[in-house]
Amino acid sequence: APRIVWLRRDLRLADQPAFCSAAAQGPVIPVYVLDDARAGERQLGGAARWWLHGSLKAFGREVERHGLRLILRRGDCVKQILDLVTETGASGVDAIRHYEPWWREAEEELGRQTDLQLHDGNYLAPPGLVTTGTGSPFKIYTPFARALLRLLPLRDPLPVPAITAPEAWPGSDSLVSWDLRPGNPDWAAGFRDAWEPGEEAAHAQLDDFVERADAYEEERNRPSVDGTSRLSPHLQWGEISPTQVWHALDGQRGTGADTFRGEVIWRDYAQNVIHQFPRYPESSYRDVFERFGWRDPQKSESAAADLRAWQRGRTGYPIVDAGMRQLWTTGWMHNRVRMIAASFLIKHLLIDWRHGERWFWDTLVDADYANNGVNWQWVSGSGVDSNMFPRIMAPLSQSEKFDAAAYIREWVPELAGLEDAEIHDPADSRRRNGYPVKRIDHKAARERALSAYRAAKG
Ligand code: FAD
Repeated sequence: APRIVWLRRDLRLADQPAFCSAAAQGPVIPVYVLDDARAGERQLGGAARWWLHGSLKAFGREVERHGLRLILRRGDCVKQILDLVTETGASGVDAIRHYEPWWREAEEELGRQTDLQLHDGNYLAPPGLVTTGTGSPFKIYTPFARALLRLLPLRDPLPVPAITAPEAWPGSDSLVSWDLRPGNPDWAAGFRDAWEPGEEAAHAQLDDFVERADAYEEERNRPSVDGTSRLSPHLQWGEISPTQVWHALDGQRGTGADTFRGEVIWRDYAQNVIHQFPRYPESSYRDVFERFGWRDPQKSESAAADLRAWQRGRTGYPIVDAGMRQLWTTGWMHNRVRMIAASFLIKHLLIDWRHGERWFWDTLVDADYANNGVNWQWVSGSGVDSNMFPRIMAPLSQSEKFDAAAYIREWVPELAGLEDAEIHDPADSRRRNGYPVKRIDHKAARERALSAYRAAKG
C-alpha cells in the first residue's frame, strides 16, 4: 500500500525524513493541503502566499523528475488527508513535525485516526531535546546555544531516497486555481526580481553564501552590502534544512562562520521558546507590557496615522523608511534594519509590538510564527529574555554607524541626490523632494517612552 507524505513547511526532497520513511514502506504520494481555517488568525500572509506558489511549483517539478506527482487539496487538512488515505488505500501518513499550535492540534487529531508517523527535520535539534542540568528547558539564548553546540551536529543530511510511484494517482487541484499570487494590482514585481523559490534555488543561494561566510562577521550589520545569506525564506519553507546548512559550512573556522552558526541557532532557540509557550507571539510575556500606556491605533487618530506612516515608509527617518519600503517591495528586510524599524514603532511611536508583528506576518516572505514573535518581543523587551525596553535605539546614529547611505539611496529615491553626510538626517527642506518630515523628534520620543515605561512599572 502507498504512504502519504503530508507536506507543510518542508518542501524539499533531500534531507526529508518523512520522504525517507515513506519510501522505505511503499509507493509515495506527496500531498500539500491549503488549509486557511486551521491557523485562524494566523493564516498565511500575502507575501508568504506568493512564496508558497513558487515553492509548490518548483517542488511539483522536482517530484516529477522522480516519477511522482504533487497532489494539491484545499480545505481542512485532517479531513483532506483522511479522505486521501481512504481513496488511495494508503497504509498511513509520514510528515515532518511542526510546532505552531494549530499544527500540533492537527497532528494530534490526525494521529488518532490513522497511522501518522512524525519525524524531526526542520531544526538542528528537536525542540525540547536541549535542557538544563536539571532537565528544564532554557529560556535564555546564550546558555541554550552553548548546550546545543555541545550536541551538534546530531546527524548528517539524508540523501534523496529511491522512491516508487503508486499505480494510480488521486485527483489534484491545479495550483493556479488557488490564486496565491496577487491579481490586480500586481504588487509582486519586486518579489520576482529578488527571489527564486524552490529547493534548487535554495542550494544555489547556500553555495553562494558559503563562499562569503568569512566576511559575515564584518558585513552582516551593513544593510548597504549583501553580507547575509538571504536563506531565511528558503529555511522558513523548508526548501533547505538547517542540518544541510550546518553541513555545508563544515570545516569552516573563523568568526564569520561561527557567528553565522550562532544565527542559525537563534532559529532553533525561537522554536524552543514556542515549544514552551505556544501562544508567545500573541501577547507580552512580561505583565508590565500588558498594562502599558501604548498609543492605540484603534482608538487614536494620530496613533493610526503613525502606524500607517511606519507601514508605508514615511516616518521621516530615512533608515526606518528604507527598511519598510524594502519590506513592501521585496518581502524581506535586512536584520539590522528590522531591529531599528521595530524599535522605532515600539519606542518612538509607542505602539504595541503586536501591530508590528502583524504587519511583518503579512509582508515577509520569511514570516515565521516563532522567529517573528520571539524577535518582536526581544526588541520590545517584553519577552522571556532580557528587558531591553529602556535601551532605546537612536535610528540616526545607527544609520551612520552601519553605513546605510547606499541602502537609503536605493529604497528612498527622493533622497538619492544627497551626500552621505546628509542622507541619514536630511535637514534641508529644499532638497527633500517630497520626503516627509519626522513624525516625532528623537529626544521627545525617547522621553515619552521612558516615562510610559516608568508609569507602567508603577
Ligand atoms: P542570516 O544573517 O544569513 O542568518 C541565517 C539564518 O539564521 C536566517 O536565514 C534565519 O533562519 C536565522 N536567523 C538569523 N537571525 C535570526 C534571528 N534573530 N532570529 C531567528 N533566526 C534568525 N526571521 C525569520 O526567519 N522570520 C521572521 O518572521 C523574522 N522576523 C523578525 C522580526 C524582527 C523584528 C527581527 C528583529 C528579526 C526577525 N527575523 C525573522 C530574524 C532575522 O531578521 C532574519 O532571519 C534575517 O534577517 C534573515 O536574513 P538572512 O537569511 O540573510 O539571515
